[in-house]
Amino acid sequence: MKNKNLKILFITSEASPFVKTGGLGDVSSALPQSLMELGNEVRLVLPKYGAVDERKFKIHEIVRLKDIPIHLGNEIELVSMRSCFLVGNKTKVQIYFFDNQKYFGSRKGLYQDVNTKKDYPDNHERFILYAKGIMELIKKLGWTPDIIHCNDWQTGLIPAYLKTVYGDLEILKDTKVVFTIHNVEFPGVFPKEVFKLTGLPESVLNEITVNDGSKISFLKAGVVYADAVTTVSEKYAEELCTIDELGGIIKNTLKKRKNDFYGIINGVDYSVWNPENDKYIPAKFSIKDLSGKTENKKSLLEYLKLPVELDVPVIGTITRFAEQKGIDLIEGAIEDLLNLDLKYVLLGQGDKKYQQFFEKIQKKYPEKFAFYYGFNEELAHLIEAGADMYLMPSKYEPCGLTQLYALKYGTIPIVRYTGGLADTIIRVNGNDANGTGFVFKKYEVEDMMKEIKRALKLYQDKEFWIKLMKKAMSLDFSWYNSAKKYVELYKKLLKDVK
Ligand code: ADP
Repeated sequence: MKNKNLKILFITSEASPFVKTGGLGDVSSALPQSLMELGNEVRLVLPKYGAVDERKFKIHEIVRLKDIPIHLGNEIELVSMRSCFLVGNKTKVQIYFFDNQKYFGSRKGLYQDVNTKKDYPDNHERFILYAKGIMELIKKLGWTPDIIHCNDWQTGLIPAYLKTVYGDLEILKDTKVVFTIHNVEFPGVFPKEVFKLTGLPESVLNEITVNDGSKISFLKAGVVYADAVTTVSEKYAEELCTIDELGGIIKNTLKKRKNDFYGIINGVDYSVWNPENDKYIPAKFSIKDLSGKTENKKSLLEYLKLPVELDVPVIGTITRFAEQKGIDLIEGAIEDLLNLDLKYVLLGQGDKKYQQFFEKIQKKYPEKFAFYYGFNEELAHLIEAGADMYLMPSKYEPCGLTQLYALKYGTIPIVRYTGGLADTIIRVNGNDANGTGFVFKKYEVEDMMKEIKRALKLYQDKEFWIKLMKKAMSLDFSWYNSAKKYVELYKKLLKDVK
């Protein structure tokens, strides 16, 4: 098994550039490409939501994978696979789009209604169909994966199907399944009654119940039944097994599986996030020539209609409005922050209460604070490129990507010491430039403000700051090393097979 290149079926619920709500979308695009660059054959499965642009991506039908009947309780749903390629610099990943009009094609949102911002009430049906449908499609694919790599709760039932209903399937007898937790904030919890729609045996029900037996968790199914479980940083892996509030309903299950549980840090796709070739930013720049950075700062301020005062430091944040991201800390600190000599730009979406709050603040501080509500890929790149510092005060952070992007653009991260942020950012001590950013520990406004003020003070020392920027830009968080770790894990699992 050792030197054989592997066939990997990567199953996800979002992948950039087709559809993305957060880091999972970035990872599901970059990791498969990196695994291919290492010589493996990877195919990716993803739902064809209404938001996927069929024409732009030239998505076509696969006649032999059309209208396959899938039982969902007493109903029968027809699902099809459609296909296209994700063409990267060095690779071409085949994409299979899971197509069902009722549950995916007719909806613009991935997990939530785009208007109400509420979870679709039938998310359990949607992702039971997805898991079950994929199992049937694998049977017909004519391509047997060595590894099935599932991601987050949306794919959590697949390992359970593989180990039970499809346990005797001859073509999959040597196939191993890996389950990656990108975020336990979304455990895929539903009333126990929905279990009957899965067609899984009762033995599974006992394994995946949570909340005193009244609910089931699709995430837990992935953790229980996969051959190996991973998460996206070592620190987060440790925290999931030790912090009650974090590990929550799967803490004990993870602890039981600790010999099969790994933390592998995410990487960055530098073909997308790199100031030397970023297609979204007006001025490219590099360690050798930083002049473009100031031009981007100017464009950012203009775009957001803030006064162009280039000597004033700009802090940026790009985030989902979720408690986990430290939004309430930003909320609590914002007026103190805006009373300092700086500008703050915030791009985010989610909970309406935060939207209303930040809109009010924007009216009060129009010269210092710009708030953009919504999802805006171009602005996300412009913030990474044009800001001087990047604030990410997460309560918990599985890995975090935006702080890694910030480093590459010489935008110095200010982060809280948790999960992937603790694993990737080294605190600047004094002005010795061994560090790569600013790090505070307590989840408190005061602690955060202290660290922000320290950063602002050091920002005044131009020589030091440029050294710090260049250090940050020189760091390499590319996927290469992490993808190699996944391959090692896959091979370890397959070692006993042949
Ligand atoms: P998470 O997955 O928890 O949301 P990450 O830092 O891992 O956080 O990844 C977030 C990804 O989503 C980044 O690519 C970031 O630029 C992007 N993103 C988040 N919110 C927005 C937004 N409102 N507009 C554009 N991009 C966003």
